[in-house]
Amino acid sequence: MGQTIGVLATRQVAVGVVEDNALTGPIRVFPEGDDNPDALRTMTGEEIAELIGQQVLLAARERSIESVGVGFPGVIRNGVVEESPNLQQIKGFAFAASLAGVLGRGGLKAPVLVLNDADAIAAGVAATRGHLEKLIRIWYLGDGVGFGRYPRAEGAWEGGHMVVSLDAKENFCGCGGVGHVEGIVGHRSMRLRFLDMEPDEVFAAAREGDARCGAFVKLWHRALAAGSASSIHLDGPGKFFIMGPNSQYVDLGLIGRYIHEMVKMSPLQGSLFEIISSSQELAIVGAAVNARRACG
Ligand SMILES: [Zn+2]
Repeated sequence: MGQTIGVLATRQVAVGVVEDNALTGPIRVFPEGDDNPDALRTMTGEEIAELIGQQVLLAARERSIESVGVGFPGVIRNGVVEESPNLQQIKGFAFAASLAGVLGRGGLKAPVLVLNDADAIAAGVAATRGHLEKLIRIWYLGDGVGFGRYPRAEGAWEGGHMVVSLDAKENFCGCGGVGHVEGIVGHRSMRLRFLDMEPDEVFAAAREGDARCGAFVKLWHRALAAGSASSIHLDGPGKFFIMGPNSQYVDLGLIGRYIHEMVKMSPLQGSLFEIISSSQELAIVGAAVNARRACG
């Protein structure tokens, strides 16, 4: 089995060489340090592709690289960024073709796969846990809510925007849609809902018996369970991994109880939820694994 390069491009660009579903060496991160945590936000698509391409070429050096996978936030289909919530300037950008051009000019002729970052993480979880033959779903709970699926399938798969409420006042989602998982569970949406309290304070007040916060914490878990239940009804039961900074708020007992209420058909029973810590490594390995599967 040859070597593949995996890339995670979110706030920074992180690059690693992957072989046998594992990193072969250290992860290269650019820009390093915390001086410019949002470096990509002010760049054009071509500039981002050039930056990633140069980092990939440095990582590749004399190796024989079979393919390159890049995990990137947003809706990406056929190598084109159809939507990227935090990088609006690159909507419509033909990312894979541009990056392949940069690599080709640098002497690296390898097929490029650009995929949603949460799908890359899901593949990384599958690869590092020996689940490459199984259906794996992940929830990434951060500013927004990422939903990833392995194996990758045709479609949009924007699970964080599944509708879980019919209340027209549930309009806090970053995409502007009403009633979405992210509009209840996402960090940004919680700050909009509780203008006077940080999410940490909301969950702490709920533990101390505050009625408004207690009701919200139940709604928060119901929303996550409802998104999962919708996925189970469409895609079948299986393993869900929950990660990201706000996975600290998850009560797995509560999720299990709500899933039990929401999913009743016997062939759809048996989903399991586990909280794990996220890492750049998972996304890099997963991007590479998906690139190898897509391009191999
Ligand atoms: Zn949304």
